[in-house]
Amino acid sequence: MRRPLSVLMTITVLSLAIAAVCVVPPSDAEELKAGNGLRWYRGNMHTHSHWSDGDDYLENIADWYQKKDYDFLVFTDHNVLAQDMERWVNVDRTKGKRTAYDKLKANFPEWIEERGEGESLEVRMHTFTEVADHFNKPEEFLLVQGEEISDSYGRLPIHMNASNVREVIPPMRGEGVQETIQNNVNAVIAQRERTGQPMIIHLNHPNFGYAIRAEDLFPIRGEKFFEVYNGHPGVHNSGDHQHASTEDIWDVVLAYRLGELGLPVMYGLATDDGHSYHRIPSRDSEPGRGWVQVLAAELTPAALIEALEAGRFYASSGVSLKSVTSSPEGLSVEVAPEADESYTIEFIGTMSDFDRMSQPVTDEAGKEIHTTHHYSGDIGQVFKTVHGTQASYTFTGKELYIRARITSDAKHPNPSEINDLKQAWCQPVVGPGVKVTE
Ligand SMILES: [Zn+2]
Ligand SMILES: [Zn+2]
Repeated sequence: MRRPLSVLMTITVLSLAIAAVCVVPPSDAEELKAGNGLRWYRGNMHTHSHWSDGDDYLENIADWYQKKDYDFLVFTDHNVLAQDMERWVNVDRTKGKRTAYDKLKANFPEWIEERGEGESLEVRMHTFTEVADHFNKPEEFLLVQGEEISDSYGRLPIHMNASNVREVIPPMRGEGVQETIQNNVNAVIAQRERTGQPMIIHLNHPNFGYAIRAEDLFPIRGEKFFEVYNGHPGVHNSGDHQHASTEDIWDVVLAYRLGELGLPVMYGLATDDGHSYHRIPSRDSEPGRGWVQVLAAELTPAALIEALEAGRFYASSGVSLKSVTSSPEGLSVEVAPEADESYTIEFIGTMSDFDRMSQPVTDEAGKEIHTTHHYSGDIGQVFKTVHGTQASYTFTGKELYIRARITSDAKHPNPSEINDLKQAWCQPVVGPGVKVTE
């Protein structure tokens, strides 16, 4: 769904011209910028360990992220919380084998608990609570308990991450993809209401197994987030000739939720989905590829969740932003540039009078395949492109929403897809006059 029309409508403005523009936020603007008691906190919300199919111990993984200047990390093993049980593992039968054990021993010589020797050598896996007690320091580093609720419908994987969950949530199942998503969302909302603990759920890697279609996401209620970028090399962020990219899915979802159903936007996250911690870089699912930058008042689960739910964050695979300003008048972005990199800022959106035509995608034999329909080029148009570090888009009054994508000319140092460039994705801003009922 990369359309010639959108290219025709693209306005390219040289950075020299932009430098002359002085952006003064209007009084009803929300400016996402550090200061006045707010800070950017960098975090990864999708992490696997030896508690499921990752190849390292919780504490080694936490150590890696802490040393790489992350502020928070959510552990999200498949259908399990790393707590409430004493679990010993045979070192040679873990995924990380001796490599992970040697790291553990070197990193935490006083803390490691082991028994037996040789082929019988076992290690006690420290629980989330123990590891969090060891690492968490106010305003410096925060570990959050999460779970990857790993559900399916038929052969289609439906994975959703619950962050700051208190009790494990088993896959809730459902008749169809959409109902399965909704049932898992409802389970997290129910636990949140029952326990009073703030927690959120997000939809993971929609193109893993090409399981999730935009049409499955239109009517979902109570779910505000999905992964527009997942660092696992097997999740097809870019789609292919038959399957929409995650960004195309995002635009279709936004257009129909806002233009037809009156439902709120979905926000885009970037995550690692790390499983492999011992060879970086490589072509496995290593840490460090994608993250969120959350503008919050303090480094606590409650403050981070409050900021995420308010859309006060952006997703990144390498580009940092200084500020993002949204208002009824439009959207402005300022990049925090790195030396020797240049940036392209694109404003992407859909007008309220978009063509509602859509067609199922078929294979060579003409048989319909399970994937997002093919939609009109009106959806997800690039309305404006600026080469530079600062740019603004002013609403014409007809937009359902506008969002910004920032792309560096520098290659991602450890890409999930070959030739990925470093990027950032701002959250969609709803156009003036668009009615949202929920
Ligand atoms: Zn998954
Ligand atoms: Zn995962």
